[in-house]
Amino acid sequence: MPTYEYVCTKCGHEMEAFQSMKDEPLTRCPACRKAALKRKVGGGAGLIFKGTGFYITDYKKKSGTPDGAKAPAKTPPTKPAAPAAAAK
Ligand SMILES: [Zn+2]
Repeated sequence: MPTYEYVCTKCGHEMEAFQSMKDEPLTRCPACRKAALKRKVGGGAGLIFKGTGFYITDYKKKSGTPDGAKAPAKTPPTKPAAPAAAAK
């Protein structure tokens, strides 16, 4: 049974609750009785990070190919405006 951390957005009261993942998140703050309880990001965050990591890895793999790496490095910087100075 995971422990969820809650924080009240009204009074700042913090608490922990043992809940099943299937349970609905608590909303009622026991301190101020307002429905302002917010569940802190905890167990669910792992999934998000995992997804992001996978995406970054995938992206690197694509841009790390010889073709992709060569193109940007080979591009020469545009020369300063030499003709403009000579036009004087
Ligand atoms: Zn509260």
